[in-house]
Amino acid sequence: MAAAHQEPAMSAGDPDLLDRVRRVLEDPVHRENPLLPLLAELHHYAGVQDQRMERLLRIADGYQFLQHEQSLTLAERCEKQLRRTEKLARISDRYQRELLELTESLREAANKDPLTGLANRRYLMERIRDEIQRARRQGSALGICIMDVDHFKQINDRFGHETGDQALCRIAAVVQDSVRSYDVYGRWGGEEFLLILPQTATEEALGVIQRVRSCINGIHVPQGKAAGMLLSASFGLTTLRAGEEDPDILLKRADQALFRAKDAGRNRVEQG
Ligand code: GH3
Ligand code: MG
Ligand code: MG
Repeated sequence: MAAAHQEPAMSAGDPDLLDRVRRVLEDPVHRENPLLPLLAELHHYAGVQDQRMERLLRIADGYQFLQHEQSLTLAERCEKQLRRTEKLARISDRYQRELLELTESLREAANKDPLTGLANRRYLMERIRDEIQRARRQGSALGICIMDVDHFKQINDRFGHETGDQALCRIAAVVQDSVRSYDVYGRWGGEEFLLILPQTATEEALGVIQRVRSCINGIHVPQGKAAGMLLSASFGLTTLRAGEEDPDILLKRADQALFRAKDAGRNRVEQG
């Protein structure tokens, strides 16, 4: 019963026969045949009957469907509707979950450096702005330090770009382990890294950065090979001054201090 309403309405007559008669009527060979008008009349009549029959069948199909729906009890109809609603809710739940996961992975990709997995420059820039605002609100100190690996070009030249990449990843991991949990650290670009030290005044910041510097000194490239190079890095440190708000001013000062560290022989921390 239930399946009947899903079948498409069938043609009542024989469409193939009607088609064959139509072709006979249109064939110029039979143009002079005296029975042609009568055959044309019969063809028209059969066509009209066919259409009527089709309409009747369609009505019967619809009626059967209605009968089936009405034969369900109210409870059965409720149950059916509930199942439909539950299915929709499940789809909507899954859709929302997938959308959330997608948003999360997009956010992560937008903020992460793909090589080292550290925060990228975009994220660091946002955090500097936030931390400046927080330091101003709370009247607390804030340290910013740019670190640049010394003679990194030599690593690539001597051992290849891939070993250079591995060295950057090891630097990332080592520094991550030597900073405090509330420090923010990421890849500023190339072989440069940036450290944001919230609530940290100069003396304390110097302590953290010297610790990072000596950890970098322990990295041997390529790892485990005696003929390799020991790494070192130079650091430019600055702290937020009263009334300061523009991150670019702090970054410029840190950059100038870094330049002085390079100039003074590398593997050292300079303040600006
Ligand atoms: P300095 O002590 O003056 O900083 O010398 P340096 O050789 O480190 O400085 P320079 O700026 O001349 O070279 C930086 C090198 O870092 C050049 C570039 O090829 C390399 N580098 C930058 N990004 C990457 C990277 O993602 N992977 C690798 N393997 N090398 C990189
Ligand atoms: Mg550099
Ligand atoms: Mg360098």
